Amino acid sequence: MELTFDWDDWRAQLQHRITTLEALQRWIAVSPGEAQAIAACDGRYRWSVTPYYASLMDQDDPKCPVRQLAVPRLEEFQLYPGASVDPVGDTVYRKTNRVIHKYPDRVIVLVTELCAVYCRHCTRKYHTTDLGGTYFEQGENASWEPDFAYIEQHPEVRDVLLTGGDPLVYSDERLESILARLRAIPHVEIIRIGSRIPVVLPQRITENLAAMLERYHPLWLNTHFNHPKEITPAAAAACDRLLRHGIVVQNQSVLLKGINDDLPTMRRLMTELLKISVRPYYLYHCDNAIGISQFVTTLEEGRALMRGLKGYLTGFGVPEYVITTPLGKIPLCEEYLHQDEAGYWVENYRGQRMVLDKALLFAEEPMVAEPALKE
Ligand SMILES: *Cc1c(COP(=O)(O)O)cnc(C)c1O
Ligand code: SF4
Repeated sequence: MELTFDWDDWRAQLQHRITTLEALQRWIAVSPGEAQAIAACDGRYRWSVTPYYASLMDQDDPKCPVRQLAVPRLEEFQLYPGASVDPVGDTVYRKTNRVIHKYPDRVIVLVTELCAVYCRHCTRKYHTTDLGGTYFEQGENASWEPDFAYIEQHPEVRDVLLTGGDPLVYSDERLESILARLRAIPHVEIIRIGSRIPVVLPQRITENLAAMLERYHPLWLNTHFNHPKEITPAAAAACDRLLRHGIVVQNQSVLLKGINDDLPTMRRLMTELLKISVRPYYLYHCDNAIGISQFVTTLEEGRALMRGLKGYLTGFGVPEYVITTPLGKIPLCEEYLHQDEAGYWVENYRGQRMVLDKALLFAEEPMVAEPALKE
């Protein structure tokens, strides 16, 4: 493939985004199903792929995970029972155009509807597509003042999470004006950014961006790797630039049927993340959102995968498996502590069991009396 632009320039990557069948055919042998789905996306689901992300695709195999994550497929157009435009009830908790306040101490702020690559499994597909809807109350271009005012007037909000769409599609200047305004609110203790940019457009994580973000510490960044194939030298370098500026990078994956729902892939995803110093944070059960139901696994499959991670990997290599509901995130993992009439018993990662002796937990009397203090 002959390049006509600077591969390492993120703006050039965005300008040369692939948005037509013809452009995609220059990268991969598009299957008939993919071609039909691309045509069906018109006026319905957005799609676009950065040249960088397209370069990770297998040219011949439509089952390639990177392809499935980014190239439209006909399954998106099947309507499944119960599929919803807002499965987690974000809009129910919307307080202003951008602020969603569900938990007592933290809010999410919707920055944009735009993304560099439109993930086929996006749970906010309604927000990030052309279905005619959005999670914004007034739209992306409305004034931010009411959003900042809401946070200012709610001193209990100590944690603000910028999400989208993908906030890092904004320019450094525009992002900085948002961050500076949030930092000026005394009770905002931490700022978080949720972004898939390190995965789909790592060139965006420039030295300048990382240095700018560092000025707004404490700042955390949660990214979204779903498959070990996405952990490339470029993605690793992007995370490294953030880490070197003191930005903790964590990962939130989605459990996706046919992409990462097998134990070898899931283990490799976690161990590869650790090698680039990115800590696995959440593994989301895939929501039954409109257009993404085809990726949903059963809870049993997710729990079985978690059993194959816990104990086999270090504790900080194991994400928490959760489902997002209108009541918040609910942990789904197996219980390792059990109780019956005899007391507590525990089970380890291999399924070996033992009684947890009461004395291990709590001694009712100290074993030796405390020696009298000498003068
Ligand atoms: C996920 C989420 C958060 C952040 O939750 P953490 O568990 O702190 O990462 C905040 N608000 C909403 C509405 C969320 O869905
Ligand atoms: S980057 Fe995030 S918001 Fe954008 S399409 Fe992907 S999952 Fe959805």
